[in-house]
Amino acid sequence: MPSGPATPAPRPVLASLPAYRPGRPPAPVAGLTAYKISSNENPYPPLRSVLAVVREAAAGINRYPDMGNTALREALAERLGVGVGQIACGTGSVGVLGQIMTAMCEPGDEVVFAWRSFEAYPIVTALAGARPVPVPLTSGHEHDLPAMLGAITSRTKVVLVCTPNNPTGTFVPDADLRLFLDAVPPHVLVVIDEAYLEFVTHPGAPDSLSIARDFPNVVVLRTFSKAYGLAGLRVGYAVAPEPLAEALRATATPFGVNLLAQAAALASLEAIDELTVRVKDLVAERERVEAALAVQGWRLPASQANFVWFPLGEDTAAFAEVCERRALTVRPYGTDGVRATIGEPEASDRLLEIAARWRAARA
Ligand SMILES: *Cc1c(COP(=O)(O)O)cnc(C)c1O
Repeated sequence: MPSGPATPAPRPVLASLPAYRPGRPPAPVAGLTAYKISSNENPYPPLRSVLAVVREAAAGINRYPDMGNTALREALAERLGVGVGQIACGTGSVGVLGQIMTAMCEPGDEVVFAWRSFEAYPIVTALAGARPVPVPLTSGHEHDLPAMLGAITSRTKVVLVCTPNNPTGTFVPDADLRLFLDAVPPHVLVVIDEAYLEFVTHPGAPDSLSIARDFPNVVVLRTFSKAYGLAGLRVGYAVAPEPLAEALRATATPFGVNLLAQAAALASLEAIDELTVRVKDLVAERERVEAALAVQGWRLPASQANFVWFPLGEDTAAFAEVCERRALTVRPYGTDGVRATIGEPEASDRLLEIAARWRAARA
C-alpha cells in the first residue's frame, strides 16, 4: 500500500482562502437598540403575502422541491422577456457564481475582477482551482475597465463586473460597458453581477439584458436576497445564452433551491409592486443619508446601492469600533474603508451622529 499523509488532507487551496467574515450581530449597549448594518440586508420583515405562501409550502417539505425550478424560471422568463431555457437558478447568486466557475474554469485558468469588490469573488475562483486576477479600482472607487481589459490573457475564462459595485456603490456606465465588451475576446465570459440592480436610479446605468442580447458572451446575475428581502432563503439566478444556462443547471447542487425558497421567490414576483414601494423608500433613505454626509463635509462615492462607502484608509478599524460602541455593526474592509447598509432610519440617524462627531474631531 502506498504511504501518504497520516490523515485525509483537504486540498491545499482551502488553507489559502480569505476567510469570509459574516456580519456579526451587534454587541448590546445599555440604552441603545442594536442595529446590524453590515450585510446589506433588507430591513423590512417579509411581506405577509410571501410569509403566507411559505407557511403553506412548509406543509410539503417531506417532498423534494422541483429540481428544474420550472414555475420560478417561467415567471422570471416572462417578466424579463427571455426564454425559459436562458434562466438558471441557484442557492443565492453566490451559488450561481459557483456554478459558473465550475462550468467554466479548469485549474490554472484566470478570473479577472475589480478589487475591492465582492468578497466571494476570490473565494469561488480559488475553490474552482482557478487563479484570481484582481484589478484595483480607480481613485474614484470605480471599475478600471481599461486595466481589466489589459489583465485579460490567454488563460482568462471569466471576467466579473459588479455594478453597482459592492462595497463602493459605484456603477459601470452602459456606454463604457459596451465599449469594454467590444474589446473582450468573444470566448471570455463576462458576468454582470447586479445584486443591487433594484436600487439603481442613475439613467446611465447599464441595461444588462439589452447588453446580453447584443453580446453572446454575457451572463447577468441577479438575486432575491437584497431588494426582495429573501436573504435567509437563498435564491438567485442567471440569465445566460441557452447552452450556457444549461451548463449552469448541470453544475447546480441538485434540488439546491429549496421548496420554501422557490415558493417565496414566486410569491415575491407576484408582489413586485409592494416590494418596489419598499425599495423606493430605501433609495430615498440612501439619498437622505448621502445628503446629510455631504453637509458634514464627507466626500463619498455616490452610491447606487443599499449602502454607503466610507473610504477611510488607515482609520477603517477605528471608525468601525466607534460604531460598535454605539451598538451599530458596520463592515470594515482592511485598510480600505467601511461599508454601511441603508436600513432602519434610526440606524441611519445613529450613523450620521457618529459620522458628524468623527469629522468634528478631525476638523
Ligand atoms: C449580496 C451579493 C450577492 C448575492 O448574494 P446571494 O448569494 O444572492 O445572497 C451577489 N453579488 C454581490 C456583489 C453581492 O453583494
